[in-house]
Amino acid sequence: FADHAGPATTLKRMNVGPHPHTGLSTFSWMIEGEILHRDSLGSEQVLRPGQVNLMTAGHGISHSEESLSDRIHLAQLWIALPDAERERAPSFQHFPELPRLGLGGWDGTLLVGELDGCRSPVPSFTPLLGLDLACSGPVDAVLRLRRGFEHGVMLLEGEVEVAPTGHEAVESVAPGTLLYIGPGCEAVELRSAGPARLLLLGGEPWATPPLLWWNFVGREPAEMGAWAQDWAREDGGRFGVVAGYVGPRIAVPPVPALKRPG
Ligand code: MN
Repeated sequence: FADHAGPATTLKRMNVGPHPHTGLSTFSWMIEGEILHRDSLGSEQVLRPGQVNLMTAGHGISHSEESLSDRIHLAQLWIALPDAERERAPSFQHFPELPRLGLGGWDGTLLVGELDGCRSPVPSFTPLLGLDLACSGPVDAVLRLRRGFEHGVMLLEGEVEVAPTGHEAVESVAPGTLLYIGPGCEAVELRSAGPARLLLLGGEPWATPPLLWWNFVGREPAEMGAWAQDWAREDGGRFGVVAGYVGPRIAVPPVPALKRPG
């Protein structure tokens, strides 16, 4: 799941009250503005441009997110945890600096994974690639891809022409779009005529996709009901309490009838 907030100047600042998560890591990449993160582990961290917050929910965590600025531009990715890790203890990590690299005219920031002998300090529980690419003028570059990965090109600003090798079509991608590139692709050409920014995301395809409902990632529909009941408790159950946040918690919606994916 990929969420793109902004770029925007808002009259009312973003204020997301305490809410629970399971079975995922939230990966927050700040481009403009500042956000204050608080969670049920007692973490309190301001996220600034060029920085990453990584919150791994494991078996359960709750957090709040408040904007400290009128201007905001943020990408938040929800990364599902594999079976062996999804019941792990929750954790929170802040990364003030990420490796930068030049990629044929693109200014790259390696958010997660490995590229050109460079490794991001951000850990992941499955092999992943997360790369922020920005340019201020015309650029045209070919990037090598890992054949075993599926990829997504998520446009954040501008307009970019994407040409995966072995495919006839050249796709023009604008903000609000995620272009999917299936596994087996060796390289991708990324062209822009003007200022642009995108995220190149990659990872190994899942044999069976996880079940995503509300803020929860699981496997079985019955898990969702149990987690919803836990969050409805006064003490937040397994999700605990976000200390320091002033305001109400976000209530869990009624759990719909869900089917196991795959
Ligand atoms: Mn959240």
